[in-house]
Amino acid sequence: MPRFTDADDVSWGFTPAERTRTRAAIAELQSIRARRAKLDAREAELLAGVTGIALDQISRDPNGSDYAFPIRSMAVELALALKESPRAMQGRMDRAWQLVERFPVTHAALAEGRITDRHAREIVAAGADISRPEARVAYETEIAALAEHATPHRIKDTAKQVAERHQPTTLAERHERARADRRTFVEDLPDGMAMLGVIGPAPAVHGAHDHLTQTAQAVKRDRRAVTRELDGIEPAPDDPAYAKYTDDRHLAQLRADIALDLLLTGEPTGHDLDRAVTATIEITIPVTTLVGLDDGPALLAGYGPIDPDTARRLAADATGWERVFLHPDTGALLTVDHYTPSAAQRRHLLARDRTCRVPGCTTRAKHCDIDHTIPYSRGGPTDVGNLAALCEPHHTMKHHSPWRFRHLGHGRLRFTSPAGYDYIDSPPMIFTGGPPAPF
Ligand SMILES: [Zn+2]
Repeated sequence: MPRFTDADDVSWGFTPAERTRTRAAIAELQSIRARRAKLDAREAELLAGVTGIALDQISRDPNGSDYAFPIRSMAVELALALKESPRAMQGRMDRAWQLVERFPVTHAALAEGRITDRHAREIVAAGADISRPEARVAYETEIAALAEHATPHRIKDTAKQVAERHQPTTLAERHERARADRRTFVEDLPDGMAMLGVIGPAPAVHGAHDHLTQTAQAVKRDRRAVTRELDGIEPAPDDPAYAKYTDDRHLAQLRADIALDLLLTGEPTGHDLDRAVTATIEITIPVTTLVGLDDGPALLAGYGPIDPDTARRLAADATGWERVFLHPDTGALLTVDHYTPSAAQRRHLLARDRTCRVPGCTTRAKHCDIDHTIPYSRGGPTDVGNLAALCEPHHTMKHHSPWRFRHLGHGRLRFTSPAGYDYIDSPPMIFTGGPPAPF
């Protein structure tokens, strides 16, 4: 209960009416806070509910769908309906699901208006790593009681300390947590070099390094044996000609060359890596097969007929090759199309789209993929009227979810969500001078 200044002691103070109004305002603000907390708890319940629907969709998928797609798709569904960015919405869904499914005591305190959403957020964030349910309940019971009487900022620090006390600390559990952080990274170095790092479980990393050492030693031995066989001689190690008969790379250099070989080509050949390995394949696909009208076979040059599904997949995945349309009966050349947009088309799209075209997504267009709205494999042309910038997560979502994207002309796109809502989005740049120039 606040204490009030005695108006007789100082030159200013509350009149009785001001005091009454202030107290009424405080009471109503507290009531608004409590009601807002209840609404936040209900909102979390709804968000956790739809997250649950996405998780059910994942478990129903016989192909074991990637975790990301139904969740990502649901995030866009909600983001469009609620006018938020998809990324912010996915964060909200994650937090809501955590709160409702893993922190029931905190959720109940929010639903009863005893703590605010900001308190709940700090409690969930600090306790997210506590894997044992009993330990988690003990943690949140303790911290939620404290949160009723403290600011969210204060709770943030306290929650970490309380979580630490309830944290399981066996080596196995710590390892499990550390394991989740395994990753690769690239760091650029001066003089045209770069570093590739792998963080993984110690036995696997040491095993891999040992494998590189053994392979490097074998490559060195092989080189010497091959050279000796060719020349029929083997100079002594102190002979100046010795170097010619052996691989002059240090073990460390060989290890690096072999590691990159393995990652780039799958073969530990230990050769110089300046040569880029490229493969070119030539496939002739009947246009009627490509657009799915029939299942006529495609021809792989130097091999023969291949099945239409593989051909369509190759047509969709291929980058940088030309599509030659032949008339199905006469074999006459109809048109030539490139899968890869031209530099002019790319510039046009960067200017038109500015960002990923999923409404609310802020990924800059220059960091996006350029997507064929109607897939190239189904006959969609490489034309700005069929191309749109999509960030990698939303590009893969489009291909692995029931979202339907459609060009309406002038860069306008219609998005039809899996739940059946239509949204129309115009690119940020408005074209006023008629249709965009053809390419
Ligand atoms: Zn995006």
